[in-house]
Amino acid sequence: DSFDAMGLQENLLRGIYAYGFEKPSAIQQRGIVPFCKGLDVIQQAQSGTGKTATFCSGILQQLDYGLVQCQALVLAPTRELAQQIEKVMRALGDYLGVKVHACVGGTSVREDQRILQAGVHVVVGTPGRVFDMLRRQSLRPDSIRMFVLDEADEMLSRGFKDQIYDIFQLLPAKVQVGVFSATMPPEALEITRKFMNKPVRILV
Ligand code: AMP
Repeated sequence: DSFDAMGLQENLLRGIYAYGFEKPSAIQQRGIVPFCKGLDVIQQAQSGTGKTATFCSGILQQLDYGLVQCQALVLAPTRELAQQIEKVMRALGDYLGVKVHACVGGTSVREDQRILQAGVHVVVGTPGRVFDMLRRQSLRPDSIRMFVLDEADEMLSRGFKDQIYDIFQLLPAKVQVGVFSATMPPEALEITRKFMNKPVRILV
C-alpha cells in the first residue's frame, strides 16, 4: 500500500510527497489505478476520505502536457469546493507544470475567458459558470477526455441536474467519467446509467 506501487509518473509522485502525503488512504488505494487506466469509476465516499487527491492524481497522470487544451473537466457543487480542488490539483501537479483554472460564479467572466483562451489543461468549476463558458465557446470541449462529478448528490440536490446533462451533451462521446458521491440517490444512479460505460464501483 504505497503511492510508489501505482505506476505513477515520477513528477506526480514528487508532487504527492511534497504535498505531505506519505501513504494512500483507502479510497486512493482502490481508486487511483482504475482511474489512471481510463476506466469509468463510481466512488461512493464521504468527504474527508481523500477523494480529491484520488481524481486529481488520476487526471494528472493521464494529461498530455504538450497539448495546452482542456483535457479534463471537474464539476463541484460550490465555488469554495471548486477553488479548493483547483489548489490541490495545482499542488499535486506542480512538478508536471499543470495549468488549472477554476471557473466559478461571482468572478469576472472576462477574466475566465482570458485565462481559458490563453490555454489550460484542466478546468474545475461549478456547473453554471462552466456551462456558460462552453456556451460562449470560451471553453472548447473537443479535447476533453476526462470528466469528474465531485459530490454528485450535492450537485443534484442543489438543482444542477439540467446543467450537468447539458454539459454532458457537449462533451465528446467517449469521455472517461468519474462520479464521486457520498450517497447514490435515484438521480445520481440515472446519471451513471445514462453516461457511464461499464463503471467500476468502489465503496469506502
Ligand atoms: P478529501 O476527502 O479529498 O476532502 O480529503 C480530506 C483531507 O485528507 C484533506 O485535508 C487531505 O489533505 C487529507 N488527505 C487526503 N489524502 C491523504 C493522504 N494520503 N495522506 C494524508 N492526508 C490525506
